[in-house]
Amino acid sequence: MTPYDASSPQARSAGLVDAFGRRVTYLRVSVTDRCDLRCVYCMSEHMTFLPKAEVLTLEELDRIAGAFVGLGVKKLRITGGEPLMRKGVMGLIENLGRHLTSGALDEVTLTTNGTRLAEFAAPLVEAGVRRINISLDTLRPDLFRTLTRGGDLSKVLAGIDAAQAAGLKLKINAVALKGDNAAEIPELIRWAHGRGMDITLIETMPMGEVEVDRTAEFLSLAEVRRDLESFWTLEDLPLSTGGPARYVAVKETGGRLGFITPLSHNFCEACNRVRLTCTGTLHTCLGREDAADLRAVLRAGASDADLIDAIRAAVDAKPKGHDFQIARAAPPAVARHMSTTGG
Ligand code: SAM
Ligand code: SF4
Repeated sequence: MTPYDASSPQARSAGLVDAFGRRVTYLRVSVTDRCDLRCVYCMSEHMTFLPKAEVLTLEELDRIAGAFVGLGVKKLRITGGEPLMRKGVMGLIENLGRHLTSGALDEVTLTTNGTRLAEFAAPLVEAGVRRINISLDTLRPDLFRTLTRGGDLSKVLAGIDAAQAAGLKLKINAVALKGDNAAEIPELIRWAHGRGMDITLIETMPMGEVEVDRTAEFLSLAEVRRDLESFWTLEDLPLSTGGPARYVAVKETGGRLGFITPLSHNFCEACNRVRLTCTGTLHTCLGREDAADLRAVLRAGASDADLIDAIRAAVDAKPKGHDFQIARAAPPAVARHMSTTGG
């Protein structure tokens, strides 16, 4: 397969703008549905993973990502499942680096659970990656083992050490869980800020069937914020990433804290992103079932123009907003797990 030529005249014609005038400049690409952890809010204990034939090859992933870059996407985030579990993922990231070199792309970044970072930190920097997000909900080895169903915290901490030593800028993502890490949140923030890392708290989202009761685990970040404000000074920052995060500066720690509140706030008006699953399904909204099958388009022998048409048609149909809600006994808003869509 010939790599997509992001600099062709066809590719450079008008960027991606949806029916509500929102420009799509950010693509998240899930490269695998597999993971070495089984976080209780993300996966069920016995997940059935996809057969290899259903998952896009690295060449297909590269071609679709390249088409988006040609259409004006400036930021790519590689995610999963656990992206560093995908065989050959470094080759993909290195190849995508050509769009950084050409100036078409501003950033290639990654969201990872950190367990394999000790091995991958230096190659990532070599491939042009400058910042990554690491998901970590607790600093307590026992709770980490429980939340991830068997994970080893020391591997993640070693990964964080290696990533900082390699010069990567890190942001920690932590899911706020009422019964588990709620009391530890200030300590997590202090730890992250003490190491020069931003940290973002995430509300649980109703995606995919899992064993835990998300209603019982749901912790409103409005509540967390009120609690933090009883002993810290939080100053709102005007920073917007076009996503659901809102940022504050914590005066006492000198660090930055984000709140991702898909359930308490509506952030859809400024949404600049779309998501590609590892099977080539393009989701234009995290909280809706709308989807376009780009794998079918590719495997039917699509030309670059066909691929661009399919992407444009999907973006045209991007929904105005999501309708997440965590109501008691309500089914998940979307049936797919976060590990398939990519967080
Ligand atoms: N495995 C990588 C990791 O954990 O960073 C990347 C994929 S993971 C699906 C991306 C993010 O989604 C993680 O920060 C995780 O905590 C978050 N996540 C997974 N399921 C979630 C849910 N139901 N609600 C909110 N966040 C969720
Ligand atoms: Fe794996 Fe990330 Fe999901 Fe945890 S949140 S199970 S690390 S994909």
